Amino acid sequence: MLAAMLQSSTIRDLKSHVTGIRPAGQDVSIISMPCPEIAATARPGNFVNIKVSSSDQPLLRRPFCIHNVEGETIEVMVKNVGRGTAMLCEASCGDNLLVLGPLGNAFGTDPGEFDTALLVSGGIGTAPMRFLETTLAAQGTPFANLVGGRSRTDLLTAGLSNVSTATDDGSEGFHGNVVQLLDRHLATETDGQRIKVFACGPNPMLKALANFCKERGLACELSLESIMGCGIGICYGCMVELKNADGEKESILLCREGPVIDGTRFTA
Ligand SMILES: Cc1cc2nc3c(=O)[nH]c(=O)nc-3n(C[C@H](O)[C@H](O)[C@H](O)COP(=O)(O)OP(=O)(O)OC[C@H]3O[C@@H](n4cnc5c(N)ncnc54)[C@H](O)[C@@H]3O)c2cc1C
Repeated sequence: MLAAMLQSSTIRDLKSHVTGIRPAGQDVSIISMPCPEIAATARPGNFVNIKVSSSDQPLLRRPFCIHNVEGETIEVMVKNVGRGTAMLCEASCGDNLLVLGPLGNAFGTDPGEFDTALLVSGGIGTAPMRFLETTLAAQGTPFANLVGGRSRTDLLTAGLSNVSTATDDGSEGFHGNVVQLLDRHLATETDGQRIKVFACGPNPMLKALANFCKERGLACELSLESIMGCGIGICYGCMVELKNADGEKESILLCREGPVIDGTRFTA
C-alpha cells in the first residue's frame, strides 16, 4: 500500500541523515536533513514522519511539522518530550534517518483571500511558522507573528521576524495569553484590513482562539496535533473529533484531512 501511494503522489520515503543540529530554546532543537524531493514539493503546514533510529526502538515514526526549507534541506524544530524526540534532540551529524513526506495538507496562503496574515503560536506550536512566514514574504503578503508561552523561557521565536510575544507570567512581552495579545493587536494594528489567522499550539489555546475568531468573523486556520502512527491514513491512530459545516460532530483522520483545519470546526 505504501509503495502504491508513493508512486501516485509526491510523497517520498527518503534515506537521509542529520547534517546540523542547533538549540532553539529550553529542551528544543532544530535539526537539518537533506531531503531534495520533499523540499521540492513541501508547502507550509505539511509535516514529515521520521524514523529516528535504525533499530526497532522506537518502532513507530514520529511526526514533525516542516519548520524550514533551505534548498534541498528541510529542518524540523523538536521539543524533547519522550524517547523519540530525545533521540532526535541528542542526535549527531551523520546519524541516519528515514523521512516520509511531505504529508498532510497545507495552510491556505492564496494572497487573493486576505491582506494581512497573523501567525499565532504557543510553545512548540511555533514550529511551522518559519516556513509559513517565508512563503508569505515571498509572495509579498504582510504578516506578523504573535508568540505565546507560559514564561520567557518557553518562548520559541527562532528564525521568525516581526514578532510580538506574550507570557502568562508577564516575564516578557505582553502580560497575558496570546489570544489576548491578538485582541490588542487587532485593535491597534490592523484597521480595515482583511485578516487571516494561522495558528498552532496546545489544544486549549487553539480552542480559545477558534472561538475568538468565530465571534469576530475572522478567517482562521489551525494546525492540530494528535497521537499519530503511520501518517498516511492506514493505522487510524490519529482520529480527532471536529464539527462539520452543520455544527454536528464528525471524526477525521488528522494525517489525511489535516493537520490544518478551518478554525470553525474546532469551536466549542
Ligand atoms: C502533525 C503533527 C506535527 C507535529 N509537529 C511537531 C513539531 O514540529 N515539533 C515537535 O516537537 N513535535 C511535533 N509533534 C508532536 C510530536 O510528534 C510528539 O511530541 C512526538 O511524537 C513524541 O514522541 P516521543 O517518542 O518523544 O514521545 P513518547 O515517548 O511517544 O511520548 C511522550 C509523551 O508525549 C505524548 N505524545 C506523543 N505524541 C504526541 C503528540 N502528537 N501530541 C501530543 N503529545 C504526544 C505521549 O502521550 C507521552 O505523554 C507533532 C505531532 C503531529 C501529529
